[in-house]
Amino acid sequence: MSEDLFKKIIAHAKEYGFVFQSSEIYDGLSAVYDYGQNGAELKKNIREYWWKSMVQMNENIVGIDAAIFMHPTTWKASGHVDAFNDPLIDNKDSKKRYRADVLIEDYMEKIQEKIYKEVAKAAKRFGDSFDEKMYVDTNPRVVGYKEKIAEVRHRYVEALEKSDLAEIKQIIIDLEIACPMSGSRNWTDVRQFNLMFATEMGAMAEGASTIYLRPETAQGIFVNFLNVMKTGRMKIPFGIAQVGKAFRNEIVARQFIFRMREFEQMEMQFFVRPGEELKWFEHWKELRMKWHQAMGIPAEKYRFHKHDKLAHYANAAFDIEFEFPFGFKELEGIHSRTDFDLKQHEKHSGKKLQYFDPELNENYVPYVVETSIGLDRTFLAVLSSAYAEEKLDDGSERTVLRIPDFLAPFKVAIFPLTKKDGLPGKAMEIFNALRFDHMCVYEEKDNIGKRYRRQDAIGTPFCITVDHQTLEDNTVTIRYRDTMEQERIPVDKVPAIVAEKVSFSKVLAE
Ligand code: ATP
Repeated sequence: MSEDLFKKIIAHAKEYGFVFQSSEIYDGLSAVYDYGQNGAELKKNIREYWWKSMVQMNENIVGIDAAIFMHPTTWKASGHVDAFNDPLIDNKDSKKRYRADVLIEDYMEKIQEKIYKEVAKAAKRFGDSFDEKMYVDTNPRVVGYKEKIAEVRHRYVEALEKSDLAEIKQIIIDLEIACPMSGSRNWTDVRQFNLMFATEMGAMAEGASTIYLRPETAQGIFVNFLNVMKTGRMKIPFGIAQVGKAFRNEIVARQFIFRMREFEQMEMQFFVRPGEELKWFEHWKELRMKWHQAMGIPAEKYRFHKHDKLAHYANAAFDIEFEFPFGFKELEGIHSRTDFDLKQHEKHSGKKLQYFDPELNENYVPYVVETSIGLDRTFLAVLSSAYAEEKLDDGSERTVLRIPDFLAPFKVAIFPLTKKDGLPGKAMEIFNALRFDHMCVYEEKDNIGKRYRRQDAIGTPFCITVDHQTLEDNTVTIRYRDTMEQERIPVDKVPAIVAEKVSFSKVLAE
């Protein structure tokens, strides 16, 4: 995978109506993107997959839709006003701004990649007799790399824990980290930067107050904990799920929809008995990995990453990372948040946020295990693993999006072979029958080959062609996106074939 491939994916996403730069006619708005006609469908399907697997498939999880604006005290209670900061640093020559923590993490990641390379080389050299664990533990070069990472990590975590910004800068200097743009090591001091967007609510005269665009959806769940528990007669353990926009004034925003200033999160807070949180943490960690892999994306594209530095309120935290074209990066976080959030809201609101446990015959503030995933990052994961350029047997080439069938923006394209002889009428008849259940496209322009290519490029799994034989025996040609195989089938079999392949049920059952 390479930067080059990433550029191609971004260009493809634009050319085929998946993702556009926001307000492009005004030269765009940095790190803000719009989803086009195909992107909106794909995004909606991913959202639906998440919602069904959380809310529809779990009798003890319910979904809500809280407002983006919340009482300002929410963000005081959650700690965001005081501590939702990133350490930023500028390069004085390129004038580019970076997250100081990311510069150091990338440095460690580069060493880690050297280890992977050494291991891959050795595995090739030794063949079947290769003992990876022994090699990694004893090979002097690999051991040296590992020691270097451990040393940097130790220093870095300590600096983060103490919020020692001078030390973070010193680490960057000592490691001789250079600006990727200018190549220079001429850095400013490290400063903290709050990521929340603030705005004013109400007219000045009536005493406007500063409110924030929510930087995460989770707090909308915590402040509704009592409402949902009471009105839904929820029994612990139970979960509340929500999908919605979140806003962060990100310092570095150069990775397409991976890091946006306005994005969408899919979060679920699971409320459990104190003391049982780590058991549930393990449960959700495994389940969330399964959710990703059930889509059909190769398992080796995912890995767990344990947090080096736990937030002060967390007692366990893992990320699920995905191998994006620019390397393994966070896609989802699974956090054991203890009773921190509910306790903070109790303190600031003066309301009791407790559960009466009839089995224990006692009241307590529940502990929380959170799963938090970015919808846009999942979109990028699906899109980048789907993108393929292929050389065909006849020497021609095609670009195809192998999007999992159930997520594809359009499921079926229906083509009359020609515009004459009543073929469009027959094709329309099939189109009109299928559109009740699926997103369908009808196309009669250009030759069939071109029409196939256009559907490949947006990931449509099936193309149905109506020709003269259809008028005689009521059969059509179905062509499969991935294999490009074509089959002649009776028209009345089409709905069942399509429905089986694009159904959510099969994936959810996994
Ligand atoms: P990062 O370290 O990449 O900034 P984070 O640890 O701050 O992410 P969380 O606060 O745990 O992220 O948010 C949960 C999820 O929301 C992330 O795993 C990611 O998928 C998504 N997310 C967070 N920030 C952004 C963003 N700026 N753009 C798109 N998605 C985001």
